Amino acid sequence: HQTRTQRDRDRDRSHLLREFSLKDRVVVVSGGARGVGLTQAEALLEAGAVVHALDRLPRPPQDSEFARVAERAASELGSRLSYHRVDVRDQKALGEVVGGIAEKEGRIDGLIAAAGIQQETPALEYTAEDADKMLGVNVTGVFMTAQAVAREMIKRKQKGSLVLIGSMSGTVANRGLICPAYNASKAAVLQLARNLASEWGEHGIRVNTISPGYIVTAMTASLFDAVPERRTAWPDANMLKRLSYPEEYRGAAVFLLSDASSFMTGADLRIDGGHCAW
Ligand code: NDP
Repeated sequence: HQTRTQRDRDRDRSHLLREFSLKDRVVVVSGGARGVGLTQAEALLEAGAVVHALDRLPRPPQDSEFARVAERAASELGSRLSYHRVDVRDQKALGEVVGGIAEKEGRIDGLIAAAGIQQETPALEYTAEDADKMLGVNVTGVFMTAQAVAREMIKRKQKGSLVLIGSMSGTVANRGLICPAYNASKAAVLQLARNLASEWGEHGIRVNTISPGYIVTAMTASLFDAVPERRTAWPDANMLKRLSYPEEYRGAAVFLLSDASSFMTGADLRIDGGHCAW
């Protein structure tokens, strides 16, 4: 890929905010119907992107806050939003859906891979099926989504940015939360991202991860219902003494997808309130 000229660099210096814009960038968001993925999709629309959300769930209803944000972004910035029902474990279906998006839009510029599952089960009770399911969605599903998107970028000789959602659980064991396969899957996402970054760097494709701390979503709601004391114990485990919300990861996603992070790849943005490793 071409070296940036002095002129490019002078231009960038005088337009800092423009570097963060995603105007007309085509971005795929897996897990885009709920939680982190939905909030990321919303942020990308507000940054001017054309968003294609993939999920097993249907798109949020027309009377939701999300739909209102999407409508406002469409009228003010020309953003567009489409939903596609697809299971990220299905490589063939993923290839068809992502290929169809690239065909329709003529390009794909980015990916947020947020589809993921969580299961709390003691290690001795885990079945091979449970472990396969967890790794199937959180590792193979993320891998195949990244592959489908990168394939279209490489085919079109386009650069791009892929953001994989990991977790702080990929590097720490969470005391009082027994999710061995989940934590293993998130560790795998970190290493997967570094390898994809290395392999696809020559095509101008950047691959980074965001590793969040505990976020208030449907995923954590079930863990709180199982052990209510966690509502106080978990905030206590980080330096800010609170849980986080999906909105607190929007800026990182926009940054990583945009030109503002043009020399960043193979990196992990850990956003965990200063979680103290247990
Ligand atoms: P949610 O469960 O709220 O949302 C996950 C979304 O992904 C759901 O819409 C889900 O649909 C979809 N999904 C799951 N499996 C598949 C699949 N096979 N194919 C397509 N879509 C699928 O989770 P969060 O928003 O909390 O989590 C999003 C990401 O953030 C995950 O990768 C998670 O591991 C990560 N994360 C979350 C943290 C938290 O505290 N919540 C902390 C750190 C990381 P369905 O309901 O059909 O399964």
